[in-house]
Amino acid sequence: MPRTLDPELRRELAARIRYYNEMGIYDFYRRPANTPETEMVANGDEQAAPVATASADPESPVFHSSIPQPEPREEMSRPKAAFASAPVAVEDNMFDMIAAKPEQSVSDPVKALRIIREDLGDCTRCPLHKQGRKQIVFGVGNPKAELMFVGEGPGADEDEQGEPFVGRAGQLLNNMIKAMGLQRTQVYIANVVKCRPPGNRTPEREECETCSPFLMRQIAVIKPKVVVALGAVAAKTLLAMSSSMAQLRGRFYDFKPAGVRASDPDWQGCKLAVTYHPAFLLRDPRQKGEAWKDLQMVMKELGLQATAGR
Ligand code: SF4
Repeated sequence: MPRTLDPELRRELAARIRYYNEMGIYDFYRRPANTPETEMVANGDEQAAPVATASADPESPVFHSSIPQPEPREEMSRPKAAFASAPVAVEDNMFDMIAAKPEQSVSDPVKALRIIREDLGDCTRCPLHKQGRKQIVFGVGNPKAELMFVGEGPGADEDEQGEPFVGRAGQLLNNMIKAMGLQRTQVYIANVVKCRPPGNRTPEREECETCSPFLMRQIAVIKPKVVVALGAVAAKTLLAMSSSMAQLRGRFYDFKPAGVRASDPDWQGCKLAVTYHPAFLLRDPRQKGEAWKDLQMVMKELGLQATAGR
């Protein structure tokens, strides 16, 4: 029987996997629990499985940026000893996270996204499945989009229609996309969590961590040039940072989806920018100018021209 991971240990492992991904290491293997090999891993044998034993600097960033990193990732803040003493018999879904993904052998992004959707199934992986969702909201748009928007989670309208950003915030996002000189059908839109949190509450960290591997896989399939994180939940989940929006906005990050690699070995990741969530802009329209600055930065990167009379 798989053991349930302590949430902190899960975070430690996820951060360590991201670190190895950054070094180009994606292939891990599982050793049976309670074997002599396992004891070696637990005792810190440097030759053992990399997930548990490598002595790399735990402060290494999950992404690279040409500017100084604002602060260390939250996941890496615990002493290394806490990780070293953790059990190594992990539950199956952790190995699901680091195993090769079926869509990686598929070059057609439409088929690859379908494989991810089928893998998601009638998902019950986090508590949101039993908190009133009508349907899973997977994502929508161009599977070969150069620009991808990532929001927080579905609201009532999205839950009803099965499509992200279709309510009032969606209308504003449509206007933002149009102002950038694009159509909604040219971009791809998804959320960190794919089920509506009750009462439109902010998704819990555990819910984000459980659902976001599917988002990472979507990004790896679409291979955008730029991802725009809409709001703090998307930004913090994608970047694994806990900085404020003021600290996160106004710059690009070099981004690779954690835990997966693209089917195209030539895709080395993309740029990521952070801006305000359209729902926030509806509540505080004074910030629209700031959001427009963020989008102009993205447009420059993509060589886009603003629509006249936006
Ligand atoms: S939010 Fe994601 S992980 Fe949670 S039940 Fe829905 S699809 Fe599954």
